[in-house]
Amino acid sequence: MSRNEPVPSFHPPRRLLMGPGPSDVHARVLAAMAQPTIGHLDPAFITMMDEVKGLLQAAFRTANALTLPVSGPGSAGMEACFVNLLEPGDTAIVCVNGVFGGRMKENVERCGATALVVADEWGAPVDPAKVEAALNAHPGARLLAFVHAETSTGVRSDAAELCRLARAHGVLTVVDTVTSLGGIPVLVDEWGADAVYSGSQKCLSCVPGLSPVTFGPRAVERIQGRKTRNQSWFLDFGLLTGYWTGGAKRAYHHTAPVNALYALHESLVMLLEEGLEAAWERHARMHRALAAGFEAMGLALPVAADWRLPQLNAVAVPAGVDEARVRARLLERWNLEIGAGLGALAGKVWRIGLMGQSATPTHVATCLAALDAVLAELGAPIARGEAVAAAEAVLFG
Ligand SMILES: *Cc1c(COP(=O)(O)O)cnc(C)c1O
Repeated sequence: MSRNEPVPSFHPPRRLLMGPGPSDVHARVLAAMAQPTIGHLDPAFITMMDEVKGLLQAAFRTANALTLPVSGPGSAGMEACFVNLLEPGDTAIVCVNGVFGGRMKENVERCGATALVVADEWGAPVDPAKVEAALNAHPGARLLAFVHAETSTGVRSDAAELCRLARAHGVLTVVDTVTSLGGIPVLVDEWGADAVYSGSQKCLSCVPGLSPVTFGPRAVERIQGRKTRNQSWFLDFGLLTGYWTGGAKRAYHHTAPVNALYALHESLVMLLEEGLEAAWERHARMHRALAAGFEAMGLALPVAADWRLPQLNAVAVPAGVDEARVRARLLERWNLEIGAGLGALAGKVWRIGLMGQSATPTHVATCLAALDAVLAELGAPIARGEAVAAAEAVLFG
């Protein structure tokens, strides 16, 4: 492009988002975002911030006062938990059964702490017996960190049991609920979880770039008792809470992403209008329909049924099929985005999201019909034309 040529406005294609996030964003959320920008210390904005905190407490099922959206994607919420709760020389037990557990380990090490890894197979849940053994072997550990919903593999772990074990050993928990919040039960107070973070663009179906976090009383106490200064200025909850909980005397810390927060507010309003239980049930039902379709087509779901995430379905790529070619064709012809396998599962699975607004019968049927057509065309050995009827029987039969 020459220097003098004007750049036209950008208009994204219309897609169906069925990958590992972002998910489809409802028109109500996009419209909320298009409202006028106001100052981030405007009284009207502060009222909205307080509502966002209350809505997040409801979504997380917690009474924690320190519940707020960090201005940054899920990775920022992850980092916020570790930089606030760890000091150099600490040790943390980190469960790794996929990509995101590996990132937690990286965060722990960058805080100058030691990560004691409890490893499980990719595709299997975190084994509570191994975690208990690690807690017994390392009584000085300061934290137990694990991923509730491993998006890289489509596996859920038993958050209630892992939090129970940590509490019994007097160890704080950091729980990644980026993919679980809004899709399956996240029960922060019932679990007794101490520091929990999520993301806006998965089952909340908001635009990307915000990370809801909640810290319980033991985590707040840990922050207040720090001997060293937090290595991060931006993510220091000692400073951030002056902005988010200062009432009328709110102190400027950074400029909140005002319009993105309108969007989060609206997406949470929509979630609670539907009802958390109803949203969990919808995700479960869409998953059953999609899984029935895949099975009818002859595609295997490698994760054991009890541990499958309804909102993120790992599907085995049939032998001899170029999985990237399938994804490219789904995008070109059907405007349908699905995810590739990551790390150890690259080339072996697709990851198909049914998150938030992308968990509807239309998404299920479109995905099954499009995959059926593309796989048949590429000569994959599937049972052609069975999948949509199988899903329909689950949904409406
Ligand atoms: C997506 C995801 C993250 C990272 O969130 P970003 O918004 O991409 O930074 C962290 N953990 C899990 C389990 C995720 O699925």
